[in-house]
Amino acid sequence: MKNTHILAAAEAPARRTRPPRVNWRTLAPSVENLRTQGYSTRETARRLGLNVKTLEAHLRRHRLRHAIPLDRPDQVRRNCLNCDSAFVADGRFLRLCPECRAMFG
Ligand SMILES: [Zn+2]
Repeated sequence: MKNTHILAAAEAPARRTRPPRVNWRTLAPSVENLRTQGYSTRETARRLGLNVKTLEAHLRRHRLRHAIPLDRPDQVRRNCLNCDSAFVADGRFLRLCPECRAMFG
């Protein structure tokens, strides 16, 4: 009894900081709108009252599902081996997104 009480108290703060469930279906047009106006992910998140990490994760999933347009036949859609974000590679042996490639040199 004593132990469960301590455990519950320890978990309480984590529960409070957990972000609320986001309804992307209703939020997507606003996200799209802000993004096309050139707002950064951070600024878009702030304006919509979202956690930036939540929005980043959503955008990643979104890009995976809704094809990034391919300009040339030798381009392929990939998920970066390092950060798992979707990107279009200029060839099928490219496994890192442009940001990670720049980071690793
Ligand atoms: Zn990457």
